[in-house]
Amino acid sequence: MKRFFSLTVLVMAAVIAGGVLEAQARKPKIMILATGGTIAGAQTKPGEASYTAGTFSVANLIAAVPQLQDLAQVSGEQFANIASQDMNNAVWLKLAKRINQLLATPEVDGIVVTHGTDTMEETAYFLHLVVNSNKPVVVVGSMRPATAISPDGPLNLYNAVAVAADPQARGRGVFVVMDDKIFCGREVTKTNTTAVETFQPMNRGVQGAAYFGQNRWFEPPGQKHTTKSEFRVDQAEAMPRVDIVYAYANAPRDMVDALVAAGAKGIVLAGVGDGNSTEPVIAALSEAAKKGVIVVRASRVGHGLVRRNIEVNDDKLGFVTAEELNPSKARVLTLLSLMHTQDPKVVQQKFYEY
Ligand code: GLU
Repeated sequence: MKRFFSLTVLVMAAVIAGGVLEAQARKPKIMILATGGTIAGAQTKPGEASYTAGTFSVANLIAAVPQLQDLAQVSGEQFANIASQDMNNAVWLKLAKRINQLLATPEVDGIVVTHGTDTMEETAYFLHLVVNSNKPVVVVGSMRPATAISPDGPLNLYNAVAVAADPQARGRGVFVVMDDKIFCGREVTKTNTTAVETFQPMNRGVQGAAYFGQNRWFEPPGQKHTTKSEFRVDQAEAMPRVDIVYAYANAPRDMVDALVAAGAKGIVLAGVGDGNSTEPVIAALSEAAKKGVIVVRASRVGHGLVRRNIEVNDDKLGFVTAEELNPSKARVLTLLSLMHTQDPKVVQQKFYEY
């Protein structure tokens, strides 16, 4: 009788374990690609404001949030371990290729990229244009290091995995998930040096709300992205040089001249107001445009559009205007456009479409 009882318990345990395994196998498969940043950062001494980004590994990040396994079958890859001020074209190319390779297999249903917040808005927009899949890709980070009082990384990571695992996230392009908000990779920008609520949309509003694994979805992005994008970098070995010139009172032309001499193929003006600058800078940019450099007028203001021919005669000077994009995002679209064309009129069209 006793033997029969233990056998029954064993069989029941095996059935339950089998059910648990089966339920786990049915969950979406999410890959976390870790690139570093504050989300993997450690303070020099507990309680200190100073810290080093990119200290913890992807295995540490996953182990710190065991609840991730309730949402998805989560695995991780240590892709890089840098602070995002050191993000560069070469890492972008490698990252885009890896993401496209992973998303092309049935083994991955969605990707989360952990990233420093400084250049997150650029990486997210770059991926938004070059990822060739409808599967969700989410870029996430944190403002406080992992060892801080009240770190924001664990919940941000949980929300990011919940978005990547959500079937409703498919086909909406690349996201940034921070501080309970789901942003479009095109739209999001960092607006505060240290605040947890630093990320804001530039012009069009948020994509949705992420709340402890529950997502609410708003309007999808209007512009072309991912599978509808013409920009592909899977075969690319390098990208053209595009730089940004910051405008300010009394700005001389020297920076523009130096960039042209250094071989820049594109220059984005982070202009005052509606994308403007001093007479010497505008003259230098116009000369650059005549030499075949793509010159894009954007604004340092942070919100609002830069349209053609308002205060500056773009038709006459041969300029492109950034429309809704801030300077760092305008740089991304300019360098991808330059891989297709050197014609400013065609580049302008890309700024309307993307
Ligand atoms: N500067 C570092 C980076 O962007 C830390 C900032 C952050 O991740 O919040 O990676």
